[in-house]
Amino acid sequence: QLKKLKNLKKRPTVSKDGFPLQIAANINNLRDVSSAISIGAEGIGLYRTEFLFMNATHLPTEEEQFRAYRYIVKSMHGKPVTFRTLDIGGDKTLPYMKLPHEHNPFLGYRGIRFCLDHLDIFETQLRALIRASRYGNVSIIFPLVSTIQEFKDAKEIYEEVRHSLVKKGYKIGHIHVGTMIETPAAAMLADKFAKIANPINIGTNDLIQFMMAADRGNSLVANLYLPFDPSVIRMIKYIVDCCHQNNVKACVCGEMAASSVAIPLLLGMGVNELSMSSMSILRSRSLIKNLNAKAMRRLVNKIVKSASSEIDVIRLVHSSIAK
Ligand code: PEP
Ligand code: MG
Repeated sequence: QLKKLKNLKKRPTVSKDGFPLQIAANINNLRDVSSAISIGAEGIGLYRTEFLFMNATHLPTEEEQFRAYRYIVKSMHGKPVTFRTLDIGGDKTLPYMKLPHEHNPFLGYRGIRFCLDHLDIFETQLRALIRASRYGNVSIIFPLVSTIQEFKDAKEIYEEVRHSLVKKGYKIGHIHVGTMIETPAAAMLADKFAKIANPINIGTNDLIQFMMAADRGNSLVANLYLPFDPSVIRMIKYIVDCCHQNNVKACVCGEMAASSVAIPLLLGMGVNELSMSSMSILRSRSLIKNLNAKAMRRLVNKIVKSASSEIDVIRLVHSSIAK
């Protein structure tokens, strides 16, 4: 048993019929990197950089950020590392920065909205990230994007920062600039995003709460927070299809990515990367090894056509795995 697990650590993730599905780690802190490596994560699929800001007593300087980002990129030895720019607001606050009180913080001043309004903070972070790119394989994604214009604005700022670093003589690696899709507005325009952003990381934690209009942290409406509602499955499939029509890497990095009901569906949709906490990686890898991707594709098509409730979806997944 132990030997089996050890073997799983070293191998890339493939389904029973040979379809690859990369499994990467979600990390919140630098100390999470070593567990990601020891478990054999195929990359860092989501580094939530806001934790670097939340755990400090002051805004981290460019040098402080650069050292942290470089550490992660170097530690991964060329495996892909996806940095999400500062996602503050909602339930996440900075102890040294007073932000206005809001009645609906999850629908409020957060993610890319905050960064586009605090260019000094945003540009400092981008400088540190771009400087760290020479040490490995870096992607940058933006959180809580709603409109194409927000992505274009963020990308333009990135280009300006990059250009000024090049002019100053910094060595810079090849960087992929993509986006999170975690609002229904962005999801409905996934075909447009897939023409200008790569990778696309589907943040299901937020996407589900916005689709179901059920606060992800409110137990009074937890009965409506339904990851397997057919509406959510259709939406995710639409985003993944748009990615593939444009040769864009499709990743899922919400909690759902590690669920044994979601994994067969995401494999069937042809998602390229699942990112999850390191703890879940081996279990997920061994599940995928026993799944037939082609059969899962048929299952997804059946669900999209026929399911009208979460119970339908879960039942169909269970009966198809049992076969
Ligand atoms: C998400 O919303 O699914 C996500 C990965 O981001 P976070 O959980 O940090 O909001
Ligand atoms: Mg989110």
